[in-house]
Amino acid sequence: MAVIVEVKGLTKKYGELTAVENLSFEVHEREIFGFLGPNGAGKSTTLNVLSTLLAYDCGEILIGGMDLSKNPRGIQQMLGLIPQEIAVYPLLSAYENVAYFASLYGLKGKALKTCALEALEFVGLTEHIKMRASKMSGGMKRRLNIACGIAHKPRLIVMDEPTVGVDAQSREHILQSIGTLRDEGATVIYTSHYMPEVQEICDRIAIIDHGRLAGIGTKEALLQTVTDIRSIYIDVQASVQEAESLSAMIKEVPGVRKARFEKELSRFKIDVGLDFGALSAILRIFIDADIDIGSIQNETPNLETTFLALTGRELR
Ligand code: ADP
Ligand code: MG
Repeated sequence: MAVIVEVKGLTKKYGELTAVENLSFEVHEREIFGFLGPNGAGKSTTLNVLSTLLAYDCGEILIGGMDLSKNPRGIQQMLGLIPQEIAVYPLLSAYENVAYFASLYGLKGKALKTCALEALEFVGLTEHIKMRASKMSGGMKRRLNIACGIAHKPRLIVMDEPTVGVDAQSREHILQSIGTLRDEGATVIYTSHYMPEVQEICDRIAIIDHGRLAGIGTKEALLQTVTDIRSIYIDVQASVQEAESLSAMIKEVPGVRKARFEKELSRFKIDVGLDFGALSAILRIFIDADIDIGSIQNETPNLETTFLALTGRELR
């Protein structure tokens, strides 16, 4: 997997406050890389440093093989930032906004026009290209903000909480379009303090808290750093005696770690490895014993519990 962003030992202070501390991570080419952490964790600070907007105290940053401290211009040319605070000109139309930002990257004439229109189409604003930004809804402004950041077709797209304050329809549109950008060959760094979104779209996730990296990897890998089991609950009507002999048989199924009957709840709690797939072997035991199954529930550890385990607190 080719590496497009390499950050080693990044530290950024605002006066006395250390916003980012000794942060190291890599982003792979053509992935959606999630940056997950509560407000104040240091996400925007990190992204603004990567986007060359903010000076940093120490660390090494390579983007597209270029050293940020030596070649910020080169990095700017390959990067598109969608900032957390919407940065569009209220009195300019949608088209004028996008064309202006694209022109900053050296696009001119016909190429500029084509790229601006494509970006507006991409975010679903084709019908509103003449509308002034000041007249737009929050969701439309967010989408315009995205169009401004991608019109020049950057290889690396950095999105800072692009779905904050948008309606459900715009949110869905934005999440889908991020997948499309990746499929078309871009790498996306996606920041959010909202867990379900990150779980849904990101290939790999970095969890940051208090400016430090608390965990990094695919969702599955992060879950496995915290636990390697999941629980299956099976509601049945069984006598204690039946339950005991069933428990003994269930424990023999490969991959089952623990099985016990919770008498008060009239259910079995069965702990299995995360990679356990052979539920049918367990069900066959109940069927062969002629025991009716009321319902089955599967409790898979999620990113929420992982976050809690890694940082010691819930995501606000
Ligand atoms: P996030 O994007 O994860 O919410 P930020 O990077 O915005 O976090 O902020 C990290 C920390 O740095 C916070 O404690 C925040 O208050 C502080 N901070 C951010 N920007 C500035 C600034 N310009 N001056 C001083 N402190 C700042
Ligand atoms: Mg932020």
